[in-house]
Amino acid sequence: MTLTSMRSGDSANQADDRPSREEAEAAVRTLLAWAGDDPAREGLQDTPARVARAYEEFFGGYAIDPVDLLQRTFSEVEGYDEMVLLRDIRFESHCEHHLAPIIGRASVAYMPTHRVVGISKLARVVDAYARRLQIQEKMTAQIANSIEQVLEPSGVAVVIEATHHCMTTRGVHKAGTTMVTSRMLGCFRKDAATRREFLSLIGNPPAQGMV
Ligand SMILES: [Zn+2]
Repeated sequence: MTLTSMRSGDSANQADDRPSREEAEAAVRTLLAWAGDDPAREGLQDTPARVARAYEEFFGGYAIDPVDLLQRTFSEVEGYDEMVLLRDIRFESHCEHHLAPIIGRASVAYMPTHRVVGISKLARVVDAYARRLQIQEKMTAQIANSIEQVLEPSGVAVVIEATHHCMTTRGVHKAGTTMVTSRMLGCFRKDAATRREFLSLIGNPPAQGMV
């Protein structure tokens, strides 16, 4: 995947075909009526405007380019080439199948070669992808791939553990279940000791088959 294709990728709908705010609010009124309520009653009158504003927040990631976020790097690292890990990055996302919340934590590590990035940027990259319509597997891969492409480290590891409200509050109604996904690239994939170190640092015993 090239940097250019990563840029365009999911942000394709920023152009002229994007509906207006009025159209978005009308769509919310339709859903309120479909749910069986009266969109004109007092308590619901401002709801479409509030939902539109909430969507701007929930899905603000489409306006953020993770490649840009990662491009400001520091090269004066005095030869530091050990693992850089930001763990337990809390995020909120929404599943692309039901628009239901996905609430979780991501741990992101990379093994720098010649460049490091400000640590807060790793959290911002997680948010940039979380604040889109997602499936957890794709989000995990997107975070790892963008770090690999821009920083060119010798390895990247991303582990995400999340609760999917489409599964806990509807459907099979399995409260308390979490889903874990991981993406290991470079030395984290090839070298079992490096992967073990990462997994122990994030507090997970290495899962069977991963070591
Ligand atoms: Zn879902």
